Amino acid sequence: MRKIAVMGGTFNPIHNGHLHLVRRFQQIIGADRVLLIPTGTPPHKIAPNLAPARDRLEMCRLAVLPDGFEVSDMEIRRTGPSYTSDTLRAVKRENPDAELFFITGEDMFLTLHDWHEPEVIYSLATVCSAPRSSRGCSALRSYAERAVKNGAKTMICDIQYLPISSTIVRDAVRRGEDLLDYVPTAVADYIYHHHLYLEEQNESGII
Ligand code: ATP
Ligand code: MG
Repeated sequence: MRKIAVMGGTFNPIHNGHLHLVRRFQQIIGADRVLLIPTGTPPHKIAPNLAPARDRLEMCRLAVLPDGFEVSDMEIRRTGPSYTSDTLRAVKRENPDAELFFITGEDMFLTLHDWHEPEVIYSLATVCSAPRSSRGCSALRSYAERAVKNGAKTMICDIQYLPISSTIVRDAVRRGEDLLDYVPTAVADYIYHHHLYLEEQNESGII
């Protein structure tokens, strides 16, 4: 059976932490295809300083070019909030014979029960996660045990955590710092050329 690994995220912007997580899971799963799907309107947070969807999409494309991963605009094209359950339904509809894996970082995994239609996610994909701190897998594993009782299939892996976030990247841009510790060169160049993340904004606009 073909295996497809899907990773969702705001990717505002994509960074080396995302790439490390998805590359390691591709190897562990033995995924035939890897699909990155940037969110349209994030349902879990109002993202501060959210770059336009087409820029987030393009930075994802540039970042994964060397890996041969795919980037889908399905959540960006969809109007309204981006729900993982809808996304997995769509991927399954297009690939009825594939086994699906959904990759998510620790902070998101630990809120799985609050996601829209968790039972649909559980039925369609194995949810894969790894630590997002140096504290290891214990919180993930105990949460996963409870999710499994509710019907989830999970895969928790002790993948090395890279202490990078999109927030750190956006702050570095505003401070005029070098981005190459955080993002691939092509993404750093894209951010500079398109003048992204220079203004500090909150949910209601520029402050
Ligand atoms: P922000 O700082 O804007 O919240 P982020 O770095 O958390 O950005 P997201 O796009 O919100 O990036 O995250 C997408 C997914 O990637 C989430 O599941 C998140 O947990 C995971 N993730 C992000 N950074 C890392 C990292 N360094 N290591 C492991 N997982 C990560
Ligand atoms: Mg985040």
